[in-house]
Amino acid sequence: MINTIKNIAGSLKNNITEFTRELIAIPSITGNEAQVIERIRKEMEKIRYNDIKIDEMGNLIGRIGNGDKILAIDGHVDTVEIGNPQNWKYDPFIGKIENGVIYGRGACDQKGGLASAVYAGKILTEIGVPENITLLVVASVQEEIYEGLNWQYIIKEDEIKPDAIILTEPSNLNIAIGHRGRVDIVVHTTGISSHGAAPELGENAIYKIAPIVLDIEKMNSVLPLDPTFGRGNITVTKISSTSPSINATADSATIHVDRRLNLEDSEKSVISEIRSLNSIKKAKAKVNIPEHEYRSKSGVIYPIKAYYPTWSMEESHPLVQMAIKTYKTQFNKEPVLYYWRFSTNGAATKGIFDIPTIGFGPGDDKFAHTIEDQVPIEHLVKAMEFYSQFVKHWGE
Ligand SMILES: [Zn+2]
Repeated sequence: MINTIKNIAGSLKNNITEFTRELIAIPSITGNEAQVIERIRKEMEKIRYNDIKIDEMGNLIGRIGNGDKILAIDGHVDTVEIGNPQNWKYDPFIGKIENGVIYGRGACDQKGGLASAVYAGKILTEIGVPENITLLVVASVQEEIYEGLNWQYIIKEDEIKPDAIILTEPSNLNIAIGHRGRVDIVVHTTGISSHGAAPELGENAIYKIAPIVLDIEKMNSVLPLDPTFGRGNITVTKISSTSPSINATADSATIHVDRRLNLEDSEKSVISEIRSLNSIKKAKAKVNIPEHEYRSKSGVIYPIKAYYPTWSMEESHPLVQMAIKTYKTQFNKEPVLYYWRFSTNGAATKGIFDIPTIGFGPGDDKFAHTIEDQVPIEHLVKAMEFYSQFVKHWGE
């Protein structure tokens, strides 16, 4: 089976290369994914996925197999912007190949990973999916801005809850088992406006928020530690205020606080640690996690809270063990287990819904969001092998 998978994957090298290049050639900045989703849908049809559907949010889901155990392999199709096009050595939207590496926006983050997942389906249609397994390949949208919102929608609205999930974000063919979380916290003070010539008659909201800013800076060095991720971080990222004119004292002031989370931190704990600051109490400041309304081009309106939890998987967990076994079987060496530095859809799949989740993807994440965005063709082939061998093992 190892060699059969290797041979088929090898024979698909040109297909996956061209498919990845085509996906790169269709720009899909967050919020503009419909065209690339349509292209992937066509490829799934060609490969003969079943029940291919695009949900109202715009996520594409294709099925192979019809067993009780559901595995989803997920890749987001949206990318960040390209910045100044002149900074790119190659056109970011042609999928230039040089020395066996494909270059372009989204190459490693993460059209390459998604292409590998789609083509793992091709291998599985040839070698057969175990009877007890359903494989869902999911091309998800909106990840770069609201990671995990897509999966909140898939789980709650599409009513699909897999037993396990593999994320195809770039991991340099290592096994990712978690990452830190993050939360956006808003602190708001109110004051009473008075004429700038008589500030003593008012209450300046900026003077109320200033000590809070300084206290938050001090908090950074005393946040809770955990053995996996170390200490969290906290920093003020934005400050704004209102007043009737620049000749009047401020009647409100607001800061945004970016708090990076470790395993010890929860939504509740991060709010209460800020609320317990003396400067907060003195200013009677309001502290909360903002809730937005997400609106898609297709007309879907969906609530989103700016809270993306930390997640991590124990090495002893059966899913991680299965990934290790798959890696050893297929590549005949020990895998590297590690934590991603960035946040992914795992914030929802494992962080919120507690679905066992791991990451494995082609490309080195150091090129993600950069003008050197790239993925080696060799990695695409190996990722295809890994995903299909994983499905085989999971069905044993
Ligand atoms: Zn990504």
